[in-house]
Amino acid sequence: MFEDLMRELKKMEREPVRISIEADEDGYFDRECPNEECEFQFKVMLDNWEDGFEGQYMHCPLCGTMASADHFWTKEHLDQMGRQATNYYAGRIGKAMSRDARKFNSRQSRKSFISMSLEYKGSTHVPALVPVEAAEEMRLKIVCEECKERFAVIGSAFFCPKCGHSSAVRMFKDALAKIEAKVEHLDRVVQAVAEVDKDAAELTRRSLLESGILDAVVAFQRVMEELYRVHPNAVKKIRQNAFQRLDDGSKLWQSAGQQTYCEILSESELGRLKGYFQRRHLLAHKEGIVDQHYLERSEESTYALGQRIVVRPEHVAELVALVRKLVTAYLPEGEAS
Ligand SMILES: [Zn+2]
Ligand SMILES: [Zn+2]
Repeated sequence: MFEDLMRELKKMEREPVRISIEADEDGYFDRECPNEECEFQFKVMLDNWEDGFEGQYMHCPLCGTMASADHFWTKEHLDQMGRQATNYYAGRIGKAMSRDARKFNSRQSRKSFISMSLEYKGSTHVPALVPVEAAEEMRLKIVCEECKERFAVIGSAFFCPKCGHSSAVRMFKDALAKIEAKVEHLDRVVQAVAEVDKDAAELTRRSLLESGILDAVVAFQRVMEELYRVHPNAVKKIRQNAFQRLDDGSKLWQSAGQQTYCEILSESELGRLKGYFQRRHLLAHKEGIVDQHYLERSEESTYALGQRIVVRPEHVAELVALVRKLVTAYLPEGEAS
């Protein structure tokens, strides 16, 4: 009775639907991290993936999750493909069932006492499969310095989707951009919190500014360690946290045949930078309270023993500018921008 339907189902089993996905205007394909905690969306240029994504591994640019590249479909695309496939199959099944019903009805004997007829009420329309459109283009386009893979993200990226390389320089630039964003939007954030709780707003202001000092020094230390490590004249074993101490870091570069910090920054700039590094030490280890060690080493006389240091937006901005100036002087050509 359902010969057409059975035939159609067998045919469908043999020929899976193929729905193509379009690249965006810039030629990039949408991807999404399969790690449920992350789900970061990004885009890659298909040219660099010889046989498409099949059988290759991909890295999430944000969290570094590595998985088979065909696990990186975006939820939007899977939804759209699923909907299209369902409607398409439903249409083909409907068409076959309606043919079966017509055949059944035409075989009924008109002389019989009991008359039976079949009617199929579902849709018999088989929609055409259309390519799934790409999501909007992403502004930040990155080229991996290791494998030359081109990819696009929103905000920032740490890992190359193709080779997994994580760029210390990119992480440094990202960290500084994050600190600058915090300072730039400080008033707006504090105002929003103040509408709910005035005390919390002040704590938020202080915490955002102090974290700016802490983060800038950590970012500086990390990128300098990495830039030094890959330098051909670098000493293999250096003291822990050497680049947290400006004099030690400068000497390391000097012995590798590079400029010293004094040659890159003016005397007063270097003096202020040292002051910020000492304040970071107080914030990280002394809850911001001025100690004897700080008074002996720092050249400023703003604070007395036992006082708590105050971080202002212009301090954070100057620290960011100074570490950027120093780091830029040690970047390999082509990475300075
Ligand atoms: Zn991820
Ligand atoms: Zn790469």
